[in-house]
Amino acid sequence: MLEFDLGPELEALRTRARAVAADGVARFGRFNDSWINGYSKEFAQVMADNGWIGMGWPKEYGGHERPPLERVIVAEEMIAAGAPIAAMWFADRQMGPTLIAYGTEDQRAEYLPGMLSGATTWCIGMSEPDAGSDLAGLSTSARRYGDDFVVNGQKIWTSFAAVADYCYLICRTGAEGSQHKGISEIIVPMDLPGIEVRPITDMTSNRHFCEVYFTDVRVPAANLVGVEGDAFKQTMVQLQHERGGIDRLVSNRALYDLALERADRSDPRVRQRIARLETGYRLGRLLVYREVCKQAPAGFSAATKAYCTEHEQRVADFVADVFGADATAWDDLGRGIAYAPAYTIMGGTSAVMRNILGERVLGLPREPR
Ligand SMILES: Cc1cc2nc3c(=O)[nH]c(=O)nc-3n(C[C@H](O)[C@H](O)[C@H](O)COP(=O)(O)OP(=O)(O)OC[C@H]3O[C@@H](n4cnc5c(N)ncnc54)[C@H](O)[C@@H]3O)c2cc1C
Repeated sequence: MLEFDLGPELEALRTRARAVAADGVARFGRFNDSWINGYSKEFAQVMADNGWIGMGWPKEYGGHERPPLERVIVAEEMIAAGAPIAAMWFADRQMGPTLIAYGTEDQRAEYLPGMLSGATTWCIGMSEPDAGSDLAGLSTSARRYGDDFVVNGQKIWTSFAAVADYCYLICRTGAEGSQHKGISEIIVPMDLPGIEVRPITDMTSNRHFCEVYFTDVRVPAANLVGVEGDAFKQTMVQLQHERGGIDRLVSNRALYDLALERADRSDPRVRQRIARLETGYRLGRLLVYREVCKQAPAGFSAATKAYCTEHEQRVADFVADVFGADATAWDDLGRGIAYAPAYTIMGGTSAVMRNILGERVLGLPREPR
């Protein structure tokens, strides 16, 4: 079977990360889907103290310039153990790299240190009630008045908006031209007047989702990231950070490990399913490694995301079968299994990932609209 021999240095890092993850679980609790449901500012601080936020960022911006596989290994160990990394995750995965790529020096100086120390939490304001998959259809507006933008509109499914210090807002600053024009990215401090956050409790009783209402929120124009009215390409790059990572493969690995302990391995059908899932983990890891090492074709993260998150759903099915009636008790295990439909929705649905793969990567003809 395909195994990666990563060498003694990376294995030593894995051992250290595993120990820190176990300690984090002991101190702050164990969370299925820990990168999205395990929120702990204290553990974010632990990650920072270990140099595990901004691992790949350039040193000139406070990062650690470590090879990409090191971040994969640390993240995999954290998520697999259920350690609560959600408070730092979006900033580390997405907002930091975006500011490094498109922000001004002032913005980098202002925001990156808080991310790197684990002190600030960020939320992502993309989806709206009428614009999810069709992100270019968003209507939250930011109109320029002097040195400010004035923001009006509504976001939904904004994970951690209720506790975030900043929202990375995707909004419309102009209406001219095609739907993809006129989109901008703006950093919005969440304590500004005119922001109302309404948490949503999902069916698994998790509460990271929020609706966020913006009413005449004045945001300094200096908070614009990148090109005004032409940020759709920036947003697409950001989504690539969101789609090709190890978090898309091992979200429910903690549940899988529990199921392995309980599974009846004397049953050949169970052994076959385990073999399939183990193969799935290895293929998924190969896809993720290619993404993070920048060896995958442009846009391929859509395929990686679809493959890996569908694998996570097969894992949830397996866990449910292994635990049988016990899985229906509404405890951590049952809620973790029930969370699985989210994997192929968040970050873009599998149907949309297949469209991207077909149209943009393989160059197949587009369906007439
Ligand atoms: C756990 C979780 C966390 C999330 N966190 C955030 C967050 O922090 N910030 C944020 O902004 N958003 C967040 N989201 C929202 C997420 O990005 C959207 O749910 C997702 O993009 C889908 O959009 P939608 O829900 O509006 O569904 P829709 O776009 O309405 O899709 C409905 C159905 O139609 C299908 N469909 C739509 N368009 C097409 C098409 N062109 N071709 C084929 N099928 C299509 C979809 O596959 C889906 O089955 C989160 C979602 C989840 C589940």
